[in-house]
Amino acid sequence: MRKKVVIANWKMNYDFYETTSFIRNFLKFIFEKKINHNKEIIIAPSFPFLHISNQISQGTNLNIAAQNIHQKEKGSYTGEISASMLKSIGIQKVILGHSERREFFFEKNNILLEKIKIALKYGLNIIFCIGESSFERSNDQQFEIVKDQLRKTVFCCTPDEIKYFYIAYEPIWAIGTGKTATFEQAQTMHEFIRSLFLERYGKNISNEISILYGGSINDFNAKDLFYQKDIDGGLVGHSSMELKKFLRIVQS
Ligand code: PEP
Repeated sequence: MRKKVVIANWKMNYDFYETTSFIRNFLKFIFEKKINHNKEIIIAPSFPFLHISNQISQGTNLNIAAQNIHQKEKGSYTGEISASMLKSIGIQKVILGHSERREFFFEKNNILLEKIKIALKYGLNIIFCIGESSFERSNDQQFEIVKDQLRKTVFCCTPDEIKYFYIAYEPIWAIGTGKTATFEQAQTMHEFIRSLFLERYGKNISNEISILYGGSINDFNAKDLFYQKDIDGGLVGHSSMELKKFLRIVQS
């Protein structure tokens, strides 16, 4: 059975107090009040709060992920954070390839492949984001773009390494815009992505890999999206920052 997963990406939002009180309240709702859900839940706060977030969620089913790592193991890279640093504070997961990193920090596929390799070296699970721009979609290039992103990054990994991945299909035109992909558009792309995994790695891996949708998910559209046969949950930005909304998404 494929894992159903919901991930909160808080980006560069929330200070210490906001981060810790959200997580404490969230855990209270989910685990003490026993709200029903069948999903793995991951929250990705900012770097300074990873350690405390991880401590608060110890012994619960909530996982904490980082939003990035540097591609080198260590050295003179002022201001950067390495995979081994995350590992040393008990962080097990990292988001890579987010379109904001690709766009604002010029992370190309070759850099992302280096990041993947270093994350794998330290045994981190990778939430790897792919997706086309609105220009590419208007030119009907979305399938080609997504295939190329995978070919140059994730598909350079061995079958054993693929077990460390979650894939997040995030059409750039849907991120933070309020313009969600329709569930048909999302399902069509997810089916295509799964077929690429089938072609590259065979049936078992393609059946088992969790492929999440991201892009303006909210508590109204989550249910229809998560109901699709190749959509295994979501990567949620804005709507993950309101406790009640996020809880409703988790329950969708
Ligand atoms: C994201 O940042 O990954 C994202 C999907 O954001 P939003 O939900 O706000 O579109």
